[in-house]
Amino acid sequence: MNSISNSNETSKLGETKCPKCYGTEVVFSHSETVGTMTYDIHKPCECRERNEWSRRFKNALIPEEFVHANLENYQRENENQRKMFEQTVKYLESFPADREELQELGTKNFGFTATIGEQRIRALNPGDRSEIKHKHNNFGIGKTHLQIALAKQLIKQGFNVFVVSDVTFMDEMMNAKRMNDDGESYNRMLNSVLNADVLLWDDIGKAKPTEAKEGLYYTIINERYKRKQPIIFNTNEDKNTLADRIGYAANSRLLERGAGEYYVMETEGIDWRLKKNA
Ligand SMILES: [Zn+2]
Repeated sequence: MNSISNSNETSKLGETKCPKCYGTEVVFSHSETVGTMTYDIHKPCECRERNEWSRRFKNALIPEEFVHANLENYQRENENQRKMFEQTVKYLESFPADREELQELGTKNFGFTATIGEQRIRALNPGDRSEIKHKHNNFGIGKTHLQIALAKQLIKQGFNVFVVSDVTFMDEMMNAKRMNDDGESYNRMLNSVLNADVLLWDDIGKAKPTEAKEGLYYTIINERYKRKQPIIFNTNEDKNTLADRIGYAANSRLLERGAGEYYVMETEGIDWRLKKNA
């Protein structure tokens, strides 16, 4: 009976069925006789581990356009991109060996910020703005690609990774908050981001700030801070302007757990000081 429900579940996930266990993930091990009854004892099939990986991958909610992103196919055309790549590899190498070690010891956050944040650019007069935006061009440098590639490596090593995209995620959370279900949807979503081994937060600070969102940023960032569980993030804001978007308390917690030589990196666009003198 078990085998039937299991195989349905397996085919629903769209995995190719294993010829050894027909997708049940268990195979016959040996028989045991107790009194007059003989029982078949089963053991996990060798395909289970492989399937676990693919389930974790699906549960991570990797965006469609990054399904093929990996470290090898990240473009390293300039010094900045080579450095981003290097830092990512260093972070991966310093990561705890397994879930137990991560839960026990925790680890740092890892982030890419802008040198000159969006909010700062918007405050400029229109003439300077377009020139800086053009030179700055912080958008096509593959921050998300690189971090998704990092997340995939961590999934392969057995970690549960949860990927959220700031605007969509914050909207969903705010909608869930308004739902008339005693907070059930809201708490379920909140628990997913709090309990994931690794939270990848794409484009943090992009959502339009409100007081309610500010409270939520703080709750998530502070809770993971206390548990020493990592947030991998990227933003088009800089270390200061990010505070205007997610709140000062959340921002300082986020960066504090990223303090260190290679944990939070400013991805460079232009030299701001040179620009001001020009
Ligand atoms: Zn199998």
